[in-house]
Amino acid sequence: MKAFAYQVENDTPRIGIEIESGTYNFTQIWDYFKELKSFPKAPDLNFLQIMIELGYFSSQDIGQVIDTVKDMRGIDDIKISRAVSYDVPIARPQKILCIGRNYQAHADEWNSKVPEKPLFFSKLPSSLLAHEKRILVPPDVGRVDHEVELAVVIGKTASMVDEAEAMSCVAGYTVAIDVTARDMQQDDIKNGRPWTLAKGMDTFCPIGPFLVPADAIDDPHDLDLQLKVNGQVRQHDNTGQMIFKIPRLISYISQYVTFIPGDILLTGTPEGTLPLQPGDTIEASISHIGTLRVHVDRM
Ligand code: MG
Repeated sequence: MKAFAYQVENDTPRIGIEIESGTYNFTQIWDYFKELKSFPKAPDLNFLQIMIELGYFSSQDIGQVIDTVKDMRGIDDIKISRAVSYDVPIARPQKILCIGRNYQAHADEWNSKVPEKPLFFSKLPSSLLAHEKRILVPPDVGRVDHEVELAVVIGKTASMVDEAEAMSCVAGYTVAIDVTARDMQQDDIKNGRPWTLAKGMDTFCPIGPFLVPADAIDDPHDLDLQLKVNGQVRQHDNTGQMIFKIPRLISYISQYVTFIPGDILLTGTPEGTLPLQPGDTIEASISHIGTLRVHVDRM
């Protein structure tokens, strides 16, 4: 099961769900569910973040709502049959936290040591970019690289969690590209400055289009990551190669920072990070989640 945020011809935002029998307008299914079950006061579900905040974002819960409506009135007329415009799955995260150097081969390609503790930085929420949109590189920015990463979306408020309970804080998984202004970042590192701008510019965090509920992924540490530029494979690895695994990352951060539903955690990139050029098309794929496609342009 895959969920996504979309719009049709600039109409109100909606939630779509892809299941075996097809792709459906879940916002509409939910409206029927409320009517059929007489829940007039239940909120509208236009945004995945609201579903997550309400604790409804699991394949089990979504499946039950779909089955109920299917049995009572049918859902064939709620299928999405025409092309839609995908939005980012989470449009307003409070924070986007990222780990650097979490794959040995990527640390090696930059002659960097693997840190003894997870190394964190953040990207700005205003850097989010949807499927099929354009990364816009400002004119004075030099080399810009791609980094394909598994993104974890947090499902509940979590502070000081231990590794054993960390995975219960995960709502779902999506694909992200940690776009990096590499010249600027290297210059910052050399001069002991933070990388905020090099990582956080507008459009530098493409994400989506699918958000897969955590209970629909058997093992998040056995997913194939691949990134292609203009059809050529540049990065290819498996999330099993992460140095610090997801429970460690969540537990570690939560000792210092409180997670809230909708927060996004980027889990690091494998080797093969290379420069992008204006006109490039990037396809970042993760098995069981999907493919995120964006384009590169100069501002
Ligand atoms: Mg990265």
